[in-house]
Amino acid sequence: MLPYQTLDEASDALGRNLTYAETLWFQYSARKSDYFLYCHTILLLFFVFSVVPLPLVFLELARLGGFERFKIQPKARLSSAQVFRCYKDVMRMFFFVVGPLQIVSYPSIRMIGIRTGFPLPSGWEIFAQLSVYFVVEDYSNYWIHRFLHNKWGYEKIHRVHHEYTAPIGFAAPYAHWAEVLILGIPSFLGPAMVPGHLITFWLWIALRQIEAIETHSGYDFPWSPTKYIPFYGGAEYHDYHHYVGGQSQNNFASVFTYCDYIYGTDKGYRYQKKLFQKVNHYYKLKGELKAGGQQNGGSHHISTQDLKSD
Ligand SMILES: [Zn+2]
Ligand SMILES: [Zn+2]
Repeated sequence: MLPYQTLDEASDALGRNLTYAETLWFQYSARKSDYFLYCHTILLLFFVFSVVPLPLVFLELARLGGFERFKIQPKARLSSAQVFRCYKDVMRMFFFVVGPLQIVSYPSIRMIGIRTGFPLPSGWEIFAQLSVYFVVEDYSNYWIHRFLHNKWGYEKIHRVHHEYTAPIGFAAPYAHWAEVLILGIPSFLGPAMVPGHLITFWLWIALRQIEAIETHSGYDFPWSPTKYIPFYGGAEYHDYHHYVGGQSQNNFASVFTYCDYIYGTDKGYRYQKKLFQKVNHYYKLKGELKAGGQQNGGSHHISTQDLKSD
């Protein structure tokens, strides 16, 4: 709740006129408690989980010709009933774990110092803090994810997330309840280290989930703006991790590629990519265009047999 009754009072306290964004924030938040404002995170997550994957799920079900060439595993198809079941499972987890977690985590948000008042953060402050959050999350998530791929972690917890070997957007938050809780830690670490405004926190929560939905979408679009982010993994990168499944010791990072590169956990992926390029080059030379791949018709798996075959 803002400690001002009117816009003039707020303006006097700041010693300047409020910006347009600050006026909007005043009108929206002045009479709401900080706890109530923080609980908006639940609505935000519900919106992101339910609405953001829809266009890609539509592509998955409609199989529009022009977009089919961007499907990473073209032969892996889910029916509308399977897609709906995935969403239903995610929503069950949302109402029993994700939502309650937001409600009980309010004291920790107070403790780390997420603010709700004026001045609002500048664009530069938001950008700098979000960058830190993404780097911190990526690094800590890498190690937790890698740990979850040991025998115990995989069988007891992480196996659930890997039920989708060719993921779709709705499957991004599909996981065991324990994994949902554990992976809350990397998301919280960045804001705890560099606390900012509640608006920055909301942006962080939304962008992190949108990024996860993109990397689980099953589509790799060459025009995606994320292609311009340095060391960004993207859909094809994480799709490979799901394609290989439980045995996968590759591509653990959630956002960027450099952790897997530094710690040597992208060797299998890079080997397959190199083979894929060689096969495509070979068929181009022969005047045939055969997009390699075997099991699901995609770019993930090429055997040396492909290099020999006609
Ligand atoms: Zn995994
Ligand atoms: Zn995944």
